[in-house]
Amino acid sequence: VAELRVALTFDAEHPSRPHCPPGVTERILSILSEADARATFFLQGRWATAYPATARSIAQAGHVVGNHSHHHGLFSSLIPERIGDDLARAEDVIREAAGAEPRPWFRFPFGDGEDSTEIAEALRTAGYRHVGWHVDPNDWDDARSAEDVAGAVLEGVRAQGDGAVVLLHGWPASTALALPTIVSGLRWEGARLVGIDELDTLPSTSSPRSY
Ligand SMILES: [Zn+2]
Repeated sequence: VAELRVALTFDAEHPSRPHCPPGVTERILSILSEADARATFFLQGRWATAYPATARSIAQAGHVVGNHSHHHGLFSSLIPERIGDDLARAEDVIREAAGAEPRPWFRFPFGDGEDSTEIAEALRTAGYRHVGWHVDPNDWDDARSAEDVAGAVLEGVRAQGDGAVVLLHGWPASTALALPTIVSGLRWEGARLVGIDELDTLPSTSSPRSY
C-alpha cells in the first residue's frame, strides 16, 4: 500500500471578515488533539501578540509553527529591506508568544510574492522558505459550507496523493465544523496527518492561487 502523508496547514491571522466567531482556533486545536493529529500553523505576528495563550498551545501541542509575516500585507508591494523588517518583527513576537522557533517555515500572505526572485532572495537571507499548497478549499469564503470545505479537501488530496499540503485558516467557523470530517475522511483513505517538517518535498508555489 502506497504511503499517503497529508499536511494540514492553518494560517493563523486576524480574520479578513468583519464577523467571525471567537474561539475557532481553540476548537481546531482541541479537534486535532482528540484525533491525535499533527498539523502546521503559520502565525501572523500581530495575531500572536493578540492571542499569546493560543499561540503557546499550538506549539505545546507539538504542531509545526511557521511565520506568516507581521502585518499580513502584500509582499510584492514591499522593498526588500521592509521584507526583512516584517519577518524579523513577526519572528520576535512568535518566539515570545508561542515559545517556538518559526524558522525556516514561512508562508506568503495570499501566496503573494512567490514569483519574484528578488523577494525570494530577501526571504532566503532572513532564513526562511515559502511553503505553498496543493489543495485550497477556499475556507475563508463564508459562502462555503463545512460540507463544501471538507469535500474539496478530500477531493484535492485524492488528486494530489502522497505529500499533499492543504491550505486552511484558523478563524472560519466552517473550517472547525469541517475538520472532524476531514480528519476521519483522510484516515479512512489511509492517510497519516503530518507536519510539514515530515515531508521530503514541499510546494514552493501556491496552486490554485488563493484570493
Ligand atoms: Zn494569511
